[in-house]
Amino acid sequence: MIAAKALVLFSGGQDSTVCLAWALTRFAGVETVGFDYGQRHASELAARPRLLKGLMAAFPEWAGKLGPDHLLPLDTLKAIGGSALTEKMAIAMGEHGLPNTFVPGRNVMFLTAAAALGYRRGIADLVGGMCETDYSGYPDCRDQTIQATAKALSLGLAEDIRIHTPLMWIDKAASWALAGELGGQALLDLVVEESVTCYEGDRSRRHDWGYGCGECPACKLRADGYAKFRAAA
Ligand code: ZN
Repeated sequence: MIAAKALVLFSGGQDSTVCLAWALTRFAGVETVGFDYGQRHASELAARPRLLKGLMAAFPEWAGKLGPDHLLPLDTLKAIGGSALTEKMAIAMGEHGLPNTFVPGRNVMFLTAAAALGYRRGIADLVGGMCETDYSGYPDCRDQTIQATAKALSLGLAEDIRIHTPLMWIDKAASWALAGELGGQALLDLVVEESVTCYEGDRSRRHDWGYGCGECPACKLRADGYAKFRAAA
């Protein structure tokens, strides 16, 4: 059964773009939400409108389903600071055995804000690109965290909130393959050209897997996944 409407957490990265395509094949209507949390590099947020425009141009059948795009400020995370994603510092191992790219509370905060927006929009199905398979050890990407958050939000809103994470159990290579299944070469091209994964927000260097510094952990994960995907294709 096709559920009525979904709200996709859409950052402008590879994972959330694949999630958006996934939602467009499963829901009658799809809205998107992005968060400005004071990330150092605006290139991810800047990619969002380009990706939405590209999706509508390449997939007319999806264009009719795409509803409003929302952008919410969550600069509390920047005010708290301490992360290489919100402050100028080298990427390194940080406290608690986690890389300093970890932004504590981010996904729980994103999901809470998305659920609140969904409440106003009449949407109880949220879609996010969290993934446990080849993540950087972020505890808020774990399925247990997501499911517990869905439960807390359902109780807190007195609504049945469902959080869909289509990438949770697949690796980056399988994520590229999923993009191909959902939207063929046109979607793969769009993800390569327009989605931003790089922690440094680098748009100056073009690789076969897209733009990025090629050195940061996020670029390496994307590049390795793409190579594995191409080798299997
Ligand atoms: Zn990079």
